[in-house]
Order: sequence, then structure tokens, then C-alpha cells
Amino acid sequence: MSVGHTGIRGAVLVLNAGSSSLKYQLVHPDTEVVSAEGLCERIGDLGSSITHEQNGTEVTEQIELPDHKTAFERVVALFAEGGIDLATAGLRAVGHRVVHGGRTFFMPTLVTEHVMSEIDRISTLAPLHNPANLIGMRAAGELLPDVPAVVVFDTAFFHGLPDAASTYAIDRGVATLHAIRRYGFHGTSHEYVSAKAAEFLGRPPTELNQIVLHLGNGASASAIRGGQPIDTSMGMTPLQGLVMGTRSGDIDPAVVIHLHRVAKLSAEQIDTLLNKQSGLKGLCGESDFRSVTQLIEQGDASAKLAYDVYVHRLRQYIGAYMLDLGRLDAIVFTAGVGENAAGLRADALAGLENFGIVIDPDRNAVRSKDPRRISADGGTVDVLVVPTNEELAIARQSAAVVAEA
Ligand code: AMP
Repeated sequence: MSVGHTGIRGAVLVLNAGSSSLKYQLVHPDTEVVSAEGLCERIGDLGSSITHEQNGTEVTEQIELPDHKTAFERVVALFAEGGIDLATAGLRAVGHRVVHGGRTFFMPTLVTEHVMSEIDRISTLAPLHNPANLIGMRAAGELLPDVPAVVVFDTAFFHGLPDAASTYAIDRGVATLHAIRRYGFHGTSHEYVSAKAAEFLGRPPTELNQIVLHLGNGASASAIRGGQPIDTSMGMTPLQGLVMGTRSGDIDPAVVIHLHRVAKLSAEQIDTLLNKQSGLKGLCGESDFRSVTQLIEQGDASAKLAYDVYVHRLRQYIGAYMLDLGRLDAIVFTAGVGENAAGLRADALAGLENFGIVIDPDRNAVRSKDPRRISADGGTVDVLVVPTNEELAIARQSAAVVAEA
């Protein structure tokens, strides 16, 4: 990463608090300049650490971080040591990424006590994530009380999914009572990337039908018609859909019952199995896509199977979304795997010439941080790689909310 140290006035501090981590970036929503960024890891655990980059210098310190508040206090101190007093720097906002907005939140929202208690109420839908997000909010509120705080929800972009796509075919009463429906996640990324793709193609988003493939440690696909999502692969939680680093994605729900009834696993154990020990990791022992690729090169049959299952699932979603959309203008790859794994991109779209989808091998091999087209001339579908930037998107949305307040 490369960060500078200019134009802090009006910047937004973007916070993404996980259950044991705190990721942050100080970015200016207008100039896009990143002044500093970092990551606190293993909060509340042994071996916690902070990596902080500011003024072009990266420091990593092993430091005891018993909770998020201590972590944020140390982050504020690291900023100060680098010459930025966050409390007086003229920040426009602190922008918090919140995973689950439930049925309540679908717009970026100013943080108030009421908003925090609502996010807390929704925590049953995201028991690992929303409580951590709240802790981050409280820590930032205490240390930077004069900076407006905004929450941006990962589910928001998918709020308007058509009922046919968002409804699970289970008892309506049970579903309604327990808020069980498909919410979709990675919304900030799907929204940002689809808008960038339209900009790159020089066409209004309202005219474009796109499939966006966000392939990182978590992975999701979406079908976007005229700027509005009409389907997405994640569901009530981020467990559904594509094969991921450690998450299973789609399985027969009866597997869960079987694991409980026959394998005698508890709900907690099944949760851990499907969220933390499945996906690529469950199939071949490695969750990192690069490690899986390395194992395949060494002839590892489990890694090859993991890759094949990953590609098979991905192609099924691409096929389904092509049909959903009717007419397809663009397929867009993003996130760690999507932006970097040229071989995966080629395999995901192999043999689709009859559908107007043809990847150009030379363009696909180019490595770049910029949006680019990797399809051959003459196909009817533009295949693009568009790097995602969730922090910038959160900073912009936060700044907009503060401007309107
Ligand atoms: P993200 O969650 O977006 O940070 O993506 C993380 C995933 O991207 C991990 O599985 C990485 O192995 C994968 N990734 C990052 N760089 C590369 C690369 N050069 N080639 C293949 N996969 C990569």
C-alpha cells in the first residue's frame, strides 16, 4: 500500500470493526488521497498487533489489545505520533461499515443512540459482526466526540431486491416473525464496482445489465439491471452462495439437520464448521486462493477438487444471472481473487463464445490497479476487471450524509 500525508481537512476516517479486528483508513472523499491506513488484529486474544502506515512508513507493533477501545486508543496515538491529531484535524466524518442493516436500514445513517440500539437489536441476524461494529462505534464516539459518525450498511444496496429473489420458500409466518429473507452483502462493493464499470464503458448505469463477481476471502455475485440489483448470491447471512475461503456457500439445508441429528454437532459447532472450516479450507486445508493455486501446481488432488468446485459454483451463478438479466452487457471481476487470478477468470468464462463472451488472453494477463477490459474485440459482452474500493465508497457516502444533515 502507498499512502501520502496531504489534505487531511475534510477527510473521513473509515472504520471496519470485525469480531477480533479493526481495519481503518483515513481517506479524502473528494481527492481520494489516503493519508493513513492500518489493521489491528487478534483483539482480545494472545499475540495481538497493529500495522499502521502513514507518511509512507509502515510500522507493525506487537501490543496487548484486550478490547476494541484499547485498540482504537492506540490507533489514535499512532496517528498523533505521525503528526495527525484526529480530534482537531477537521475530519468530515467517521464512517463505520456495518454488516447487517436488517429490514430497518438501507441508507447511510447518522449515528445516534437510537440508531445504535436498533443495530444492536438486529444483531441476532449477524451475531459475530454487528456487536463488533457497535463496539467500534462506541470507541470512536468516546475518543472523537465532535466528529459526526455515519454508518454504511453492507446490505443496503440489495434492499430493493425483487420479492421473488429475496424470499425463501419456507413458511411465511415463520419467515416474517424471524426476519428470514435474503438480504445480500458486499453491497458497498457491488454498488461501487458496477458504477465504475459503467463509467469505464462510458455508458449510463441505467442502460447497463451487469454481472458483478466480488471474489475475495468472502465471495458474492450479483445481477444488476440498469443500476439496480435484481439478484445476489448471499442470503440472510454471508454464508450462502459461492464457495469462499472458509465458508461453504450453498449446501442442502438438510446437511445441517444431519450434522446435528447424526453427527451430534451443536449449533455452535455447525456454525463454526460451515463458516470457518469449509469452502476452500475445508476441501484442501488452505483458504488463501494463492496457496490453493500453489498446491495445484504441486499436483495436490484435493486442491484441484477445491478449485473445480469453486469454478463450478461460480459458473452456475453466472449462468443463472445471464438468464435473469435476459440481455447481458458486462461481466465484472473484483476483489482479491477477481482482480488478480487471471487463470480463474479464464476458467470461469471458458467456452461461452456462443453467448458473446470471449476473453482475450493477453489482456487478461495484464496486471494493473486500474479498471480494464479483458474481453476480445467483437464479443457482445464486455468482460472487465474493476478494483473495488469499499473504503472510498464508505467515505463518500458518509460525507454525503454529513453534508445533508
Ligand atoms: P480480499 O478478501 O478481497 O482481500 O481477497 C483475498 C483473496 O485474494 C485471498 O484468497 C488471496 O489469496 C487472493 N489473492 C490476492 N492476491 C492474489 C493473486 N495475486 N493471485 C491470486 N489470488 C490472489
